[in-house]
Parts: sequence; C-alpha cells; structure tokens
Amino acid sequence: MPANIIFIMSDDHAAAAVSAYDGKINQTPQLDRLAREGVRFDNCFCTNSICTPSRAVILTGLYSHLNGVKTLADKIDGTRPNVAKNLQAAGYQTAIVGKWHLGHGGSHDPTGFDYWNILPGQGEYFDPEMIEMGYTKRYSGYATDIITDKALEWLDERDRTRPFFLMIHHKAPHRPWQPDAKHAHMYEDETIPEPYTFNDDYQNRAAAAKAARMRIDRDLNAQDLKQPIPDGLSQSEEKSWKYQRYIKDYLRCVASIDDNVGRLLDYLDAEALSRDTVVMYTSDQGFFLGEHGWFDKRFMYEESLRMPFMVRYPAEIVPSTVVDAMALNVDFTPTFLDFAQVEIPPSMQGSSLRPLMNGKVPETWQTSMYYRYWMHMDPIHGVYSHYGVRTLQYKLIYYYAQALGTKGSTDDPKPPEWELFDLEKDPWEIRNVFHDPAYADVVKELQQELGRLRTKVQDDE
Ligand code: CA
Repeated sequence: MPANIIFIMSDDHAAAAVSAYDGKINQTPQLDRLAREGVRFDNCFCTNSICTPSRAVILTGLYSHLNGVKTLADKIDGTRPNVAKNLQAAGYQTAIVGKWHLGHGGSHDPTGFDYWNILPGQGEYFDPEMIEMGYTKRYSGYATDIITDKALEWLDERDRTRPFFLMIHHKAPHRPWQPDAKHAHMYEDETIPEPYTFNDDYQNRAAAAKAARMRIDRDLNAQDLKQPIPDGLSQSEEKSWKYQRYIKDYLRCVASIDDNVGRLLDYLDAEALSRDTVVMYTSDQGFFLGEHGWFDKRFMYEESLRMPFMVRYPAEIVPSTVVDAMALNVDFTPTFLDFAQVEIPPSMQGSSLRPLMNGKVPETWQTSMYYRYWMHMDPIHGVYSHYGVRTLQYKLIYYYAQALGTKGSTDDPKPPEWELFDLEKDPWEIRNVFHDPAYADVVKELQQELGRLRTKVQDDE
C-alpha cells in the first residue's frame, strides 16, 4: 500500500524555537523525535512569508502569482486543482483539521477533502468555533488540543483498507500567543536570552527595515503583553521586559504543540502505523523572535524566510539524516504525490524532496530560490513589497515598494532600493553590501539570476 501521509503545520513557528534546530531558547522533545528518527532540512524556505499565501502554495504547488493568493486578503478558488484532489482521485482518504485561512463559504471551502473541520479565519485559542463540513460548532477547550483530538478521531474512524492523507494545521503559536493553563507558568523563573540583533539600528539598510512596524519596543500592544508595563523602567529595560512577555507566551504555545505532536506519535505507535506513515512537521513560514528587534514575518530576511521542516518515515528514511540542499514550500506538494506514488502534474512548479531525504541530491537540484512579498505597506505592519533571490551564499532583495493593485496594500509608492547580504560573512543580515564595489560582480550575477528565476516561475509583474 502507498504510504500514509500526515502533514502537521503550525502557524509562525520559527526554526529557532525547535531544539532539533539547535534552538537555544526552548526544548521540543517530541518534535525532535521527528528529526532524530527521520530527516531534518536545514535550508527550507518559504516563497512568500505570510500565512494565507504560503498555505495556498502548499495546497496547489504553484507560486502565489499563479495560484491567485498573493496576499492575506486573497481567498483560494476551490474549483481549481489542488493536491488533495490528486490524492483523493488516487484512492486516498483525505482530511484537513485546524487552520485553513484561505477564506470559507462557497467556493472558498476546502475541496478535495473527504473530511474537513476548520477554524474560521485566524481562529481562537480558547473554546474555538470550527466549521465541520459546512456546519459551525463551538468546542470547549484549547485549540491545539482540540485540533489534535479531531485529527485522532478521524484516524480512528477511517477506512483501514485505504491509505490516508491528513493535514493537521495548528493555530499556535500565532499572535496573540495565548498559552493554555498547563503551560502558563513555564519559564516563569527564567530569562530567555535576547538574540544577537535585538538592538539593530537599521543603519545602512534599505528604508523598509526602519519603516516596518513590528518592533518589540514599540509595536506590541496591550493584548499581546497581557500585563501592564511596570513603572520606572528605562527604555531598554522596558524593551527587555516586553521581549520576555512576548517570547515566554510564544514558547508556551509551542510547548503545547510539542505535547500534541507527541500524542499523535504515540497514537501511531499504538496503532502500529508509525513504520508506514510519513509524518511531516513544518510551519507556514518563519518568525522573528526578537531578531532585528522584531516580531512577525513578511521580510525575506532569514528568520522569516526559513521554515522548520522535519520528516519521519521509518520504512525509507535513515534516522538522523540532515539535508543541506535547498527545499521550498512549493516542493512540498509534489513530495506528497511522490510518497503516494501519484503522478506529479507538470503544471506544478516544485520538485519532490523525497530523493533528498534518502541522501540523493539530483545534480541539477536548485541552488537558488525566488521570493516575493506582495503586500505593500499593509496597514498594520507596513512592510514594503519586495522580491529577491537567495543563493547558498548571498541574498539580493529588491524593494520595488509599490502596491500594484494587490489587496491589503497601501497605494503609497516608495523609492525602490536594493539590499545584498553576504550570508557567510554576515549571517545576521546587518551589513547591506549592495553599494560596496567589492561586490559589484556578485550584484551583476545575482541580478541575472533573479531575472532567470522570475522567467522560470513565470512572474512578469
Ligand atoms: Ca503564519
């Protein structure tokens, strides 16, 4: 029988908050099991680092400009092809439980799924409303537990003669980072270390960095902080206090995901399903955990671009495999089909990662990737629209800084600017070397590569 596939995706979970990724700020023993018993991808990147678009990429195997979901305000068109439909047609039982965030109602409901039970919009952490096959119901409890409960119930009731494809999409650890009672006091007596670029002053960067409204010291609101700011703190003390409030709640939400992934893995063991089930864990994109003084994502900078991605499949993958080759969210879709032994439609833009998991990197494998963030100056975070290319050593970003009619954008063009980072010398991305004559040849090469990639992915806007 073809492999069963469980795809677990959390929302805004940075690799830096997974201990298997050498994260220094927390422990995730259950998630680490996937890396220890399977493969860890160290260079997995998102092609458009924002919730709704990344989900659409994974579902369709197409970049944002071709799947019709460029921004948070766009909705999926369920009448179009998606990977669940391919799997369903091949005899798989298909289900999605948890966060959908691609619109709902009418043609925006999940299609290709035998069973779906989704959070409307962003969903709630406590006593969430969910839409089960079109019917709204409120559950009591904590979202991460409930989503796991519903997934396990579906597994229990499935047809055991057929393989399954199950997407488990957590709301956590998305803003406003509300932990459950069980984890509410974790880290209470600890101080979580601040990242190296915590006090970034955005000097010599494009104007976009300074303009963004996602600063720990300024842009966390009362709902985020959940406690009044203590009196008498200096400016830097207040920033540190806010960071501790933010990061501890974030990590508490992650701890609940970790527990629930453990519940699922235990279930697979108890049901003798572990060997023949591919279990994948990722997040829809990365997140800033205080790097550059920020929370949130959107930028092509490393912390936001990078996705944790770990896969366990004991029937095939050697334990503790580490893959350095570049993987993208657009590659997940053909990977599902490859594991299911279903033909990959030529229209899909990614490539299966399955050979890489077995230590075989094809000679022609990608060594560069194309990124684009479309929402110019969204009213909350104010990040400028940009696109760029990342290679193994460099990153070139072009802030074209215009709305171009995309939803959720502000029609307020800014002067276009470039950034170049030498990731070997400056992994923190604090020295823009675009104007450094020593990098003139690199700039020329990367601009050509950017053009080549734009043609290849068919983005001509
Ligand atoms: Ca997200």
